[in-house]
Order: sequence, then structure tokens, then C-alpha cells
Amino acid sequence: MKTFQPLARAHQVVIFRLRTGHCRLLAHLYRMKISHTDDCETGTQTPEHVLQTCPSFAALRSELWPVMVDLKEKLWRPVESLWQTADFLASITLTV
Ligand SMILES: [Zn+2]
Repeated sequence: MKTFQPLARAHQVVIFRLRTGHCRLLAHLYRMKISHTDDCETGTQTPEHVLQTCPSFAALRSELWPVMVDLKEKLWRPVESLWQTADFLASITLTV
């Protein structure tokens, strides 16, 4: 039987922010008029951009997810996917 280990509180917070889009990524900061741009130079910096397509994190992304995983799985379930997403976020230079 697989042990179910819940996410650490800090990881829950980050995942929740990305689910709602209320995070520190440029797309949201720009909407809030806190940033002058929503662009990370390769696209609009949304949770989907960072998790799925931003070239800046391509190497780490393919290391953690050798097979393409959709955004829904990365942010919702199963819980193993959420751990991976939390690892990814902890390893990149962005604060979300
Ligand atoms: Zn980008």
C-alpha cells in the first residue's frame, strides 16, 4: 500500500497560489499594477508558462517530468505530482 504523505504547509501555499493565479508571477503583478510588464521575455509569465513552456526552466522540467504532464495534473492530482511541482518550484529561481 502506498503511504499518503500530505504536502508540507509551505508547499500547499505555493500550489494554491498557482491554482488561483494569485501569485508573485509577473502576469499577476502586472494585473495588480505592481510590475511594469507581464513578460518574462519568452512569454507572459503565468503559472502555466512557468510550469509548462518557459524555456528558462526546460532542463529542470524535463528532468522532473521526462514525459509531458498536463497542468491540471501538476497542480491538482495525484499528490505525487504536487510534490514534484513543489520540488520544481523550490529549484527554480522564481518566487511564486
Ligand atoms: Zn518564460
